Amino acid sequence: MFHSRLIPIIICFLFVFSFGCQETPSSKLADTIYINGHVITMDEANPEVGAFAVGRGRILSIGTSEEIASAYPEADVVDLERKTVMPGIIESHGHLLSLGQSFLELNVEGIETPEEVVLKVKERVAETPAGEWIMGWGWDEGAWAKNYPTNRDLSAISPENPVYLRGLHGFACWANAKALGVAGIDKDTPNPENGEIIKNPKTGIPTGILTNEAQGLLTRHIPPMTVTQIEKALKLAIEECLKYGLTSIHEARTTSKMLEALHSLKDKKELKSRIYVMLDCTEQELIETYFESGPSVDPENFLTVRCIKIFVDGALGSRGAAMIEPYNDAPDEKGVVVTPEDEVCRLSKRALESGLQVAIHAIGDRANRITLNAFRRAIEEYPDVKDHRFRLEHAQVVALEDIPKFAPLGVVLSMQPPHATSDMPWAEKRVGSERIKGAYAWRSFWDSGVHMTLNSDFPGETLDPFVGMYTAMTRQTPEGEPEGGWYPEQCLKRDEVLKAYTIEAAYSGFEENIKGKIVPGILADFIVLSGDILNIPVKEFLNIKVAQTYLGGELVNERQ
Ligand SMILES: [Zn+2]
Repeated sequence: MFHSRLIPIIICFLFVFSFGCQETPSSKLADTIYINGHVITMDEANPEVGAFAVGRGRILSIGTSEEIASAYPEADVVDLERKTVMPGIIESHGHLLSLGQSFLELNVEGIETPEEVVLKVKERVAETPAGEWIMGWGWDEGAWAKNYPTNRDLSAISPENPVYLRGLHGFACWANAKALGVAGIDKDTPNPENGEIIKNPKTGIPTGILTNEAQGLLTRHIPPMTVTQIEKALKLAIEECLKYGLTSIHEARTTSKMLEALHSLKDKKELKSRIYVMLDCTEQELIETYFESGPSVDPENFLTVRCIKIFVDGALGSRGAAMIEPYNDAPDEKGVVVTPEDEVCRLSKRALESGLQVAIHAIGDRANRITLNAFRRAIEEYPDVKDHRFRLEHAQVVALEDIPKFAPLGVVLSMQPPHATSDMPWAEKRVGSERIKGAYAWRSFWDSGVHMTLNSDFPGETLDPFVGMYTAMTRQTPEGEPEGGWYPEQCLKRDEVLKAYTIEAAYSGFEENIKGKIVPGILADFIVLSGDILNIPVKEFLNIKVAQTYLGGELVNERQ
C-alpha cells in the first residue's frame, strides 16, 4: 500500500540514526535500552528485532540485544523477558468525553433491583451539594420494561437534587420528582412524537420513566458540563485508554469547550495521551477560526488540531442512514441527509485552502456517494493540493460500483470492525441481500488499494483494540458466532489488521513519520503484551492484555 512511498523516509531515518550510533558506541544519548524482547517493529525492512534504545522520548536504534547493550553501556536496562512489544495503538476514531462521562456518572449497570439502585443514589446524594444534578446510567430498561419502577423512593431520598438515570440501551430514563419539576414535566405535559411520559393511570402524575424521544424533554434542562468537569472526564477516559495500549487518540467530535479542556490539561502536563482533534463542524465559529489559521500541529506532539468533522447522515439501526433506495424493512424510508453535497463540497474546498483535513461521517450508500461526489468536486478544483488525506468515517453501506472510486481520489477509509458484529443481527433486514455485499466491506476496500485505518468508535463499542483485531479477522462475535464468520470473504488478514491499527492509523493523521512503528526517529510510544500476537491462534486475541504502556519512553500504565 503506502509503504513504497515511506521506504525512502525510513531508510533515511535508519541511516542517520544507526550511523550516529556506530560513531559513538559509548554514547549516553540513550536513557534506556529494552533488551531480550520480541519486538514487532511494523517496518517491513526489519519486522522483528530483540531490542531497542530510547533517548529523549524517541526510538534511537533497534537491533539484537547484544548490539544494543554494547552500543549503550551506560543506559538503564529493561529486560523484556521475551515478551512481545509493538508500537502503541493509535485509536483513530473515539469519543473521549462520552467515555469519561460514563466514569463520572453513577454506574448502576448489573444492579438487579430498583431498591438497590435507590440505595446507590442515596450514597451519591450524601456527597453532592444540594441542587446539583446526579447523573447515572446502566439500569436495564429492557429487562425492567414489564414492570417499570416509579420515582417515589428516588424522590424521597433526593428531594433537593435532580436525579437522572439513563437506561443501559438509551431507550428510557428514570428521573426523580425534582428533575421532572426542573424540566416542567407534569400531568398535563403531552407525549412527544416517538416517546412516552409514563403516567400513573389513576392520578395522571408522571412516574419518572420517560421513553425514547420523551427523554429529550428532560435532558435539555441538564446544565452543560463546565470546562473543569470536562477536564476531569477527559483524564479518566485517557487513563482507561492507556490500559488498552492506546497511546494516541483521534477525538472524533471535539467541541470548543473540549478543546479548551485539552489545552488546559496539556499546559498542566496532565495530558497522558497524544490527541488528534477533529473539530465539531456544527460549531461554525470554531471551524471559522481554524479555516483562518490553518492546522495547529503541536511540536511536542500532544495536541494537534488539523481536521474538521462533518456528519452527512445518521445511523443504520435507527434508519437515519441515508440510502439511495428505500430500506428493505421500511419501504417509505430512505434515511436523512444532514449535510447536503454542496455544503460538504464548500467545506471541503475551504479545508483544502487552509490545509485542514476533512472527516465525513457517512453510513448509508447515499451518504457515501454524496461524500464521494463532494470530495471529487473539491479536489478537482484544487489540483495542486496533493496530500489532503480526506477521510471517510464508517463507510458502512457503500454501493458496489462506488467502492473502487475512493482510492484514486486519495481518500482514507476509517472503519470500525465491532460495528459489523454488533449490527449483523439486523443489518441485512435493513438493506437486503444485494446491498449487504457492500456493507462493512473491509476486504473490498483494502483490495481497492485505499488507505484504511481500523478503530473502535468508543464508547459505543469496546475500546480493546485486540478485540477489534479479532473481529476484523473473523467477523465473529467473541462467542464465535456465526460459525465461519458473517460474510467471511470480507475478513482481513493478521498483517493487514496490525497495519490498520498502527501505520495506517498514523497515516490517517499525517503522523507516519513519528508514530506507528518502532524504528529510529519515531516517538517511543510502545506497548508490552501478554502474548505473541504474530503466532497465537486468532481466537486468543480476545485474551491479549497490555502489560505496560509507554508514552515517549515513559511508563504511563502498568497492569496490576
Ligand atoms: Zn464516532
